[in-house]
Amino acid sequence: MDRYTYDCNYCGVEYIPKRRHVQKFCSNSCRVNNHKQKKKAQKHLTESKKVDGMPRKDKMTWAGVGNAAAGTLAINLATNLFTKEENKPATKGDIQRLLKEGMPKFILIKNIPPRSDGFRAYFDTTKQILIYKI
Ligand SMILES: [Zn+2]
Repeated sequence: MDRYTYDCNYCGVEYIPKRRHVQKFCSNSCRVNNHKQKKKAQKHLTESKKVDGMPRKDKMTWAGVGNAAAGTLAINLATNLFTKEENKPATKGDIQRLLKEGMPKFILIKNIPPRSDGFRAYFDTTKQILIYKI
């Protein structure tokens, strides 16, 4: 643009620039007005992203839920990997398996020492009595 006269970028009026190559407007008021208009347009652009005039909130997305679930899963997996078998809590499956298999008929009573004949004290879970057997 190397003309003697310029066209104002705001009002379109032809004018003689005081500063060639850098001046875009005929006057300060046009320069300021153009800036205001630009700002307003930008504001409008950002406002259009808002829903019902409310600031845009971060929506909960299924992708986000998936990521959170994957994170929880990873933590559970890590916990499982680093928890010893005997320290793991009993699951419903464990309890159901125990119920299905039933209680053992005899339970060794450890704080009663073996008899001289080698018999040991057991608790009979069906009769609910203490018995001695090998
Ligand atoms: Zn102007």
